[in-house]
Parts: sequence; C-alpha cells; structure tokens
Amino acid sequence: MYSIVDNTSNTLSKVMNIHQHAGKKLPSQDFLNQHTVSNPVIFHGVGVHSGKAVCMIVHPAAVDHGIIFERTDIEDQPNRIRANWQMVSTTNMCTTISNSSGVSVATVEHIIAALYGTGITNALITIDGPEVPIMDGCSEEFCKGILETNIIRQAKRRHSLKISETVRVENENGWAQLSPHDTNLFSVKFIPTDRYEGLTQEQFQQFSYHEDDFTTLISRARTFGFYEDAQKLWAAGLAKGASLDNTVVIHKGAVMNEDGLRYNDELVRHKLLDAIGDMALAEYVLIGHYEACNPGHTLNYQLLKKYFETITTS
Ligand SMILES: [Zn+2]
Repeated sequence: MYSIVDNTSNTLSKVMNIHQHAGKKLPSQDFLNQHTVSNPVIFHGVGVHSGKAVCMIVHPAAVDHGIIFERTDIEDQPNRIRANWQMVSTTNMCTTISNSSGVSVATVEHIIAALYGTGITNALITIDGPEVPIMDGCSEEFCKGILETNIIRQAKRRHSLKISETVRVENENGWAQLSPHDTNLFSVKFIPTDRYEGLTQEQFQQFSYHEDDFTTLISRARTFGFYEDAQKLWAAGLAKGASLDNTVVIHKGAVMNEDGLRYNDELVRHKLLDAIGDMALAEYVLIGHYEACNPGHTLNYQLLKKYFETITTS
C-alpha cells in the first residue's frame, strides 16, 4: 500500500484534507524512541529553485539507519547522501547536502523538519532529481503523507546529547545559540527590517515536542520572500519553481498572496520550521534550548558546527 501526495497543482480541498490529520502525532513519551514509516510515502512536486518536476519517496528503514537520501537519477557515482550537518555544502537560500562525490540534494530542510515533527528517525528517501519538491512551501503535505501511514515504533532509543554549556554564533542578520535546558526546546524571535515597511511587528514563537503539535503549530507556515528579490532571481535563471502557490510574497509592506497569511505570525513560525529541519541534521536529539533571532540556514549550520567542535575538543 502506498500513500501518494500530489502537488503538481494546489487546491483548497487538499488543504482541508490536511486539517483532518492534525493532531495525529506520536505520544510525547515516544519522542525519544526511534521510528520509521510502515509503507513508502510518495510525493510529487517541483523544485523551487530548479522548477523541475520530481518524485520523492520516503521508504521504511531499519533501526539506526538514520535519514539517507538516494538520487535515483544518478547511477555512475555514489548516489547516497546522509542527512547530517557534516554533509551540508550550501546554505544560501536553502540547505543543500552533498556526498564526497559531489552528488547533492537541495532544499532538504522542510522534509527533514516534517520527519522530526512526526517522530520519524529512520528512512531512505529516494528522489529522481537534485532538489526536494517544494510542495506548498512548508512541511504540511509531507506531514500529511507520513501521518497517513502507520508510524512504526522501533526497538531502540534515539541517540541524544545533553547541552552542557552555551554555544552561540552571530552574523550581520542575527544570532543563534544552544544552552542547557531539560527538554528539546526551540525559541525564535523575528525582528522585521525596514524592508518589511511595517508589515509586521516583532514576532516570537516557541516549540517543544512534548507540549506542542508540530502539524498544527509549525508545519503549515510557508517560506517567504520579497517580490523584488524574486524578480532578480528569475532574471538570473534561479527560483524557477517559486510562485504564489509555494511562497508568501511580500511587496511594498503587503502580502501579495490572495488568501493572505495562514497565521498572523507565519513568518516566525517558518523560521522555526527551518530551524527544526536544520538542527535535526545533528542526528541527535539535542536536550537543550535552541534560541535565535532572525536565524537562517547559514547561522543554523554554523551553530551545529561550533557545537560539535566544542564537544569534541572539550
Ligand atoms: Zn524554509
């Protein structure tokens, strides 16, 4: 049996269906256990950068397998890439991972966040192109597809690391840090720059797997960007798959999408979604507090790198 989520077109009825699946998360006491899917879950969509149609399938995998992508369109070189922070090759606009042969998969953060949010720790993800499908710009359809299968509890605990001291990184846009805390907690602040022209005030959102439902609180928050930037990217032959169907587009202090925002604070929720996806590349449950202000993929990667450097030298 297969679960199929098709995003070659985007309809309201699909969005309505997704709501019926909200809340089917694993009991929070199971969070520290390993899990996989019972059946392959198939996703059709386009890459936001390449504009190319791709088919991505999340397959069941054994205990301690982790999350591994396999590029089925590449046969003449090693085509598997582990979803681990050490494989991160680019953090410009999205998170891209590459193996030692240079075979890569781009925009992994939204599917990785969906796997984290549904408790899936072991999966082989086959994909017939270089980029994860953008779907409608968030993790909602990935969560829906995964939650339609049975989630299999596996006979082993997840690997976890307790944050024992604060590690912090900063750049010109903001900062991110990991500090001691007794659970796996995410907090993100979003401070709009002048470019937002008063669209929103400062936003703050938190997520804890033990207390919150990823599918309702986080998974529906879409990626966002400025209309002027999209025009420049299109002129440069980039962001070919980006459209109002998969991106919140901001222009002159207003949202261009006909239906507006899904949440008043959709922007900070998407920052949280990206952070959850990026930090899951640790391949450990980090028992600690991730806090950030205006984070991006680069900051998240730098934070993981600094954290692992710190614990290997201390
Ligand atoms: Zn994102």
